Amino acid sequence: MTSPRIAFIGAGNMAASLIGGLRAKGVAADAIRASDPGAEQRAKISAEHGIQTFAQNADALAGADVVVLSVKPQVMQAVCQDLTPHLAHGPLIVSIAAGISCDSLQRWLGPRPQAIVRCMPNTPALLRQGVSGLFANAQVSDTQKQQAEQLLSAVGIALWLEEERLIDAVTAVSGSGPAYFFLLIEAMTAAGQQLGLPRETAAQLTMQTALGAARMACESDVDAAELRRRVTSPNGTTEAAIKAFQAGGFEQLVQQALNAAAQRSAELA
Ligand code: NAD
Repeated sequence: MTSPRIAFIGAGNMAASLIGGLRAKGVAADAIRASDPGAEQRAKISAEHGIQTFAQNADALAGADVVVLSVKPQVMQAVCQDLTPHLAHGPLIVSIAAGISCDSLQRWLGPRPQAIVRCMPNTPALLRQGVSGLFANAQVSDTQKQQAEQLLSAVGIALWLEEERLIDAVTAVSGSGPAYFFLLIEAMTAAGQQLGLPRETAAQLTMQTALGAARMACESDVDAAELRRRVTSPNGTTEAAIKAFQAGGFEQLVQQALNAAAQRSAELA
């Protein structure tokens, strides 16, 4: 597929990650433009990635095939209303903003039906290790779906969702998910310290174990439950720990935590 021309509206952290990922995948600098009112953001992103930047959003999106809305949710309505007169050529709109529905975007972008893909990426996108859930509205063509997938897969894995409401579940699992693993790393490091390890040693043991376990789970042919069974000998040390987790209601707690995140995501939308 030839590279579409992509305009980023908002040149902050997420836009910089996506642009870095696209450039690393061989997308030409002149296929990418970005706009941001911040002179510092513009200077940084153009110095790092060699792309053209603009202070006015309309200038960035001239002739773009894909328009990425990478601004904070609070300014999204004003940004959309500002863009409306410049969308007559029918580009694909990709929004990465948390909690803003396709219906709201469509309403703010004016009466003409727009092809909109709504995404929920996560912070490991900064290391190109992200995962995103994507939902396409009825106006999005197969080619545009490929374009959106190419964009998000430049910073990790992109997974399509059949229903927009599942974005709340994606938010609960992977959008907020990195923080749950950070919490487990904090708790295991503290517990290791309690057992007598120096803090730094406990932290390194925990983090490398998290990385190794995640890689095993990703690369293995069997699921996590089977991997766990394989390392849990009857009456052994791992079984003692797993029994303590289960006695404390670990699975139910995880379910409750994810329900709370999904509910909050639905309330914000
Ligand atoms: P950010 O603050 O780093 O970037 C936003 C940029 O938008 C800033 O550079 C700001 O100057 C610019 N901006 C403000 N008003 C503007 C306007 N009127 N026109 C154009 N640009 C304008 O934020 P971020 O972390 O990159 O997040 C961007 C979006 O991505 C948010 O909607 C957020 O919900 C979503 N998101 C971020 C993450 C994450 O991990 N950072 C994860 C999922 C979703």
